Amino acid sequence: MLKRLADRISLRRQISLLAGAIGLAVVGGTTAGSALLARVQATDMAQDALLQVARSVADRLDQDLAERQREIRNVAALEALQPHWLENTGSLRKVLDTMQSTLPDYAWIGFADQDGRVRAATGGILEGASVAQRPWFSNGIKQAAVEDVHPASLLQSLLKPHADGTPFRFVDVAAPVSDGSGRIIGVLGTHLSWRWADVVRREVLSSRRPELKEDIIVLDRSGRVLLGPDLGAAPYTAAELAAGRFIDRRAGGDRLATAAATHGRGDYAGLGWIVVALQPVDTALAGANRLTGLILLVGLIAAVLGMVGIGLIAGRLSRPLTRLTEAVDRIGRQPNARMTDRVHGSPEVLRLSTAIRSLLRRIGTAEEDARLSRVEATDAVHAAEDRVRRLGADLRAMQVLADTDGLTGLLNRRAFLPLANDAMSYFKRYRRGICVLMIDIDHFKRVNDLYGHAAGDEVIRQVGRIIRDAIRTTDKVARFGGEEFVVLLRETDLQGATLFAERIRQTVAGTVFEPEGQCLRATISVGMAGADVADDDIDHTIERADRALYAAKSGGRNCVRSAETAAAPDLRSAA
Ligand code: GH3
Ligand code: MG
Ligand code: MG
Repeated sequence: MLKRLADRISLRRQISLLAGAIGLAVVGGTTAGSALLARVQATDMAQDALLQVARSVADRLDQDLAERQREIRNVAALEALQPHWLENTGSLRKVLDTMQSTLPDYAWIGFADQDGRVRAATGGILEGASVAQRPWFSNGIKQAAVEDVHPASLLQSLLKPHADGTPFRFVDVAAPVSDGSGRIIGVLGTHLSWRWADVVRREVLSSRRPELKEDIIVLDRSGRVLLGPDLGAAPYTAAELAAGRFIDRRAGGDRLATAAATHGRGDYAGLGWIVVALQPVDTALAGANRLTGLILLVGLIAAVLGMVGIGLIAGRLSRPLTRLTEAVDRIGRQPNARMTDRVHGSPEVLRLSTAIRSLLRRIGTAEEDARLSRVEATDAVHAAEDRVRRLGADLRAMQVLADTDGLTGLLNRRAFLPLANDAMSYFKRYRRGICVLMIDIDHFKRVNDLYGHAAGDEVIRQVGRIIRDAIRTTDKVARFGGEEFVVLLRETDLQGATLFAERIRQTVAGTVFEPEGQCLRATISVGMAGADVADDDIDHTIERADRALYAAKSGGRNCVRSAETAAAPDLRSAA
């Protein structure tokens, strides 16, 4: 099947197709490999960049909280405030209000005495209330403390609500306050609005190119969302977060994700938050996809150019072969073409061309030999035919000689008898009458004696001619020996034969023979017999005719006698 297909496709096309297939495979393989490599590399690079974003947010959160903690601790230790903590709550409130106005992220700043009762606070909020149960107080009375994000409890109804209606959430920062002797007299606590973290997030994102479509969410130490959609949910597994790099496969499309934990800074121990930076995979790999497309395009162009180039080269390589094929084909078609030109193109083609030329030379020699053999054979056949013809002619001449009487040119006895036998068979089968005449020249001895043997010969010859001229072509006459003749008449009854015999007898009798200037006359006697069913063969009939001849001789000669009418009246002519 494959061989038959290959037989129908030219060498040039086969080379082009093969090279094209290899080219496409190479381009396909290179493109796929490059695309994979570009994707892996682009993913790595995007994740590296995302990790930077996550780290910078984590660092900013750590830095800001460390600063807040240091700030609160510094204020708590401020010597100038020593007299005011328990005594002068009015001026303390003013100091706290000033602090809040310099940093609006502080939603509330207050001082609670060692019993947990709020002595002074920004805006006078919660003054007199007990915060003894609040973690910031219980922890902050021992040392500077930062409490994890929590919703507002006492303050929810007292603070001016957010414009977008979101509930208040705070990170509490607290530090113990001591009097001059170092005795702890209360806790300075602040509620830092969690919106601060969102501001940090926005600031970091705004430093990034918007087309990167990066996003940031913040999780608490157990992986629950603190900042971002689905607050309180735990979108990622511990393993993913521990790996630091993973794919976020939630609805809305796959996103590259990197996680960076906050570690605290200086005295601030950190709250174990995890910052996760996200970027849609499509966006992250857009460059890689563009690169892959470019590689594919360049590869395809290279493949097409390669195929065209290889097609041209294949054409150039196969051209000598085509020329050689055409030349050999021409020899096959044109009877006069005997030799091809030498075809150049490559050593192989040249060798093939030379080999074909020497083959053609051998074929030419063989053809010439065959032609000569044919001529010789034809000549020999002609010669043999000539010989056979000549032999045939000789044979026929010899046959004629053998069948012919030398003196008269009539049939001899040997040639006559088979013909007469044929006629006898014919008679026996179809009852068509035949008659045999025996003719003898009368007193011929005398002719010889009186005129000589040569004159006798001439008389015999002339009597033979008279009989021959008288018979029809279907009748036969032969010299039976000496001066005796036999005649076979076909389709003739005895009556017709009698007329015929009589006519001859009269012709001979009326003829003046003039052999060798002499003048003489002669007569003949005729004995006749018609073929009879009782005759066994022609010899039997001849015998009866012979008897009739005897009767004619006995009857006086120069007369005709038939076997049946041997005793009939004499028919001799008066002449
Ligand atoms: P008839 O028949 O009338 O009884 O008499 P005849 O003289 O013809 O008798 P016969 O048959 O005995 O003689 C025939 C003669 O014819 C004898 C022979 O010398 C002669 N003869 C036979 N053959 C030839 C021949 O070829 N040439 C010549 N010139 N003479 C021949
Ligand atoms: Mg005789
Ligand atoms: Mg005689």
